[in-house]
Amino acid sequence: MVTRITTSFSDLSLHADLLKAIADQNYENPTPIQEQAIPVITTGRDVLAAAQTGTGKTAAFTLPLIQKLHTEAAPRRAGHCKVLILTPTRELAAQVASNIEIYSKYTKLQSVVAFGGVGINPQMIKLKRGCDFLIATPGRLMDLYQQNAVRFNDIQTFVLDEADRMLDMGFIHDIKKIIKLLPQKRQNLLFSATFSEQIRTLAANIVSDPVEISVSVKNTTSSSVEHSVVHVLKGNKNKLLVELIVSENWQQVLVFSRTKHGANRLAKQLCAKDISAAAIHGNKSQGARTKALEDFKSGDLRVLVATDIAARGIDIKQLPQVVNFDLPHVSEDYVHRIGRTGRAGETGRAISFVTDEDVDLIVGIQNLIQQVIEVKDIPGFSLDTPLRMPALRAMKAKKPKKQKPSDGSVPNAKPRSSHNPANSEGAPKHRRRKPSHASSPKTGSSANGQSNSRRNPNRVESNSGNR
Ligand code: AMP
Repeated sequence: MVTRITTSFSDLSLHADLLKAIADQNYENPTPIQEQAIPVITTGRDVLAAAQTGTGKTAAFTLPLIQKLHTEAAPRRAGHCKVLILTPTRELAAQVASNIEIYSKYTKLQSVVAFGGVGINPQMIKLKRGCDFLIATPGRLMDLYQQNAVRFNDIQTFVLDEADRMLDMGFIHDIKKIIKLLPQKRQNLLFSATFSEQIRTLAANIVSDPVEISVSVKNTTSSSVEHSVVHVLKGNKNKLLVELIVSENWQQVLVFSRTKHGANRLAKQLCAKDISAAAIHGNKSQGARTKALEDFKSGDLRVLVATDIAARGIDIKQLPQVVNFDLPHVSEDYVHRIGRTGRAGETGRAISFVTDEDVDLIVGIQNLIQQVIEVKDIPGFSLDTPLRMPALRAMKAKKPKKQKPSDGSVPNAKPRSSHNPANSEGAPKHRRRKPSHASSPKTGSSANGQSNSRRNPNRVESNSGNR
């Protein structure tokens, strides 16, 4: 019998002030990504990590960085920052900033969060004083830089969070511009849920001799989230949602809509049925987004109807229920959506409404997660015709590729949209990946549970990232 010795936070040589803050959060043990990333980041090495939201990845990179700055206690220079964290969405920036605040509450470290959709002046004023952590979305960061509100000379660590989503949202050009402005000598940490060819190309220009860390991505939903589908007529989806909310007595449910318009319409229809609901998407003002999220978190709002981008970074403890009112076009988004519930060891439930037109999408999702999703029979709503789901198609493991040295060249660079989405976090996606069940992350497990990660002597791997 093999006994697994669980690492505790104190085994990770974290400072007492951090351990105290962690204890306040009632975290019992580090998650797999934390267990692996914290010691590596502490040594100052670059890291390339395959981990999605819900795995505890934010603490995995913020804790060692807080530790370093707290122990160094070096003075801050006005208008400068020491750690730059780039996130694709405002919500995620706010979420990361709030995590840093929580973990650094017994330190004197200062953070500034900067994103579009709100006034730039308060952010400029805060930056003038200098900060330890700057958490920003790319568009607003460029605006601040161009207005001389921030300087990058003191940056010791650069973190690119949710790199896959950054590319989906067309931020590639901003990111490249920002990287050119950073000091040559710095630590780089890149986190991504998936590792496409483009991510690898981008990574080759950012990280240098990285330690690769992978926590199992595809099965993340399986252990803690009970997910199912219901085969329904398109015209009955609204009624079915109301029926489920009422009959199951759901008090806090996150509903995914494919379009902003659809999200608005659905929220309105729910309100008309006396079910408190609000929509959250890129066309809403930042104030409205923040308020809707706060009301939803506090329980004042029963239903939050969100589009995929707006939902990134939503972290609600013990969110019990997710509904895919519309299935996502991109299979990986299913994993992200379902990841909103069943977080950090909690259990959650997710149900997806599948119409006849959606069969290809659900098949793609099943192949991606290598799991047959249970079909629920809901009398009065489920269609009589069975949902025909072909057997799972095993995902082809991509051949391991050698990473090119980060010498400034862009291997295999493919031209991408030149659209500059500055200030448009939450805007429609311009170049989404095709819904493809073949577009597997290079890291992770194949159908038979074997690792298909590329071989790298620096790689650390775990299959237990189910939090
Ligand atoms: P993240 O993957 O960073 O979005 O984190 C997901 C959730 O896990 C957040 O609510 C964190 O507060 C929580 N979390 C992070 N680390 C731990 C841990 N070691 N134990 C329990 N919960 C955690």
